[in-house]
Amino acid sequence: MLIDPFGRPITYLRISVTDRCNMRCVYCMPPEGIETRSHDEIMRYEEILQVVQTAAQHGITEVRLTGGEPLARAGIVSLVRMIAETPGIRDLSLTTNGLLLEKFAAELAEAGLKRVNISLDTLDPDKFSRITRGASLERVWSGLQAAESAGLTPIKLNTVAMKGVNEDELIDIARLSQRHPWRVRFIELMPVNNQTPWGEGFPSPQSAYLPIHDIRRILAPLDLQPVEEKSGSGPAREYRIPGAPGTVGFISPLGEHFCERCNRLRLTADGALRPCLLSDIEIPLLKALRAGEDIYPFLERAVLMKPEGHELVKNHRPMTRCMIQIGG
Ligand code: SAM
Ligand code: SF4
Repeated sequence: MLIDPFGRPITYLRISVTDRCNMRCVYCMPPEGIETRSHDEIMRYEEILQVVQTAAQHGITEVRLTGGEPLARAGIVSLVRMIAETPGIRDLSLTTNGLLLEKFAAELAEAGLKRVNISLDTLDPDKFSRITRGASLERVWSGLQAAESAGLTPIKLNTVAMKGVNEDELIDIARLSQRHPWRVRFIELMPVNNQTPWGEGFPSPQSAYLPIHDIRRILAPLDLQPVEEKSGSGPAREYRIPGAPGTVGFISPLGEHFCERCNRLRLTADGALRPCLLSDIEIPLLKALRAGEDIYPFLERAVLMKPEGHELVKNHRPMTRCMIQIGG
């Protein structure tokens, strides 16, 4: 069992499988794009599997695949199958922008994927295209439907709440939970290497942050009622519009951070363990893995180096990567 110095059991591994993406969301990557790693610098599927197997032998039970866009990496279904078959892994999920879900949802479910989180920041097709620098909202809707038909449920929708971008739509987005059994979650915008101007029509990145208490105030007319927590390990606090089949949640790493309940480690696509999303501490393991070394000591070290709380609380910003290179 992996337990960090602050007594938190580490049971959850988030794996970024690629630093590439078929969208270019303004808050996630700079306008000029990022320098992506070469093929050789990215973990092969067999290597990711080796890390998962070792992690599973030491108490990791839950894996989430992310990116970049995980469905944009060739052969992703085969990775899902290999991880789903790993003894000890009880929950395997994936975070996606939804563009390729229509194509892959059924295959992913058949390969053993349990659920998907889909990112959706607006219901307006033009605004969606501007936020994502060119993607089609219609394709995401088709993807969402395909995921639901394939049983990749409960579907969670991730909405980054931003002042001057989508604050006027938060009520409508929350109301999706009245028509569908979806879990809509509003996420505070994080300042992770996204502070250069986003482009015409957008507020300055510094002024787009919408604190959790403002998000709650905007949603006050919905009379959200708290939902009793099941396990307490996830970051979202869950609520329900009275009578709704779905829920509304809040992920507020800045305003009401959940560090004391954090149970996760991250693995970047280029093979570095990251003990905290919002800290630049990293433990590279790919070289050692390729040299045939046991990688358990690397997992152990990452857990030992897990900070008690994240850096933003101390007014430091993670500087080394953009969100597209970490995976959220
Ligand atoms: N491409 C996939 C997607 O968009 O769902 C997976 C990777 S993306 C980095 C994972 C999540 O991080 C998405 O829900 C996205 O909205 C969120 N995200 C990206 N940049 C963010 C930021 N600066 N602050 C808060 N959330 C962010
Ligand atoms: Fe791609 Fe997801 Fe980042 Fe958007 S949020 S650019 S879809 S990785």
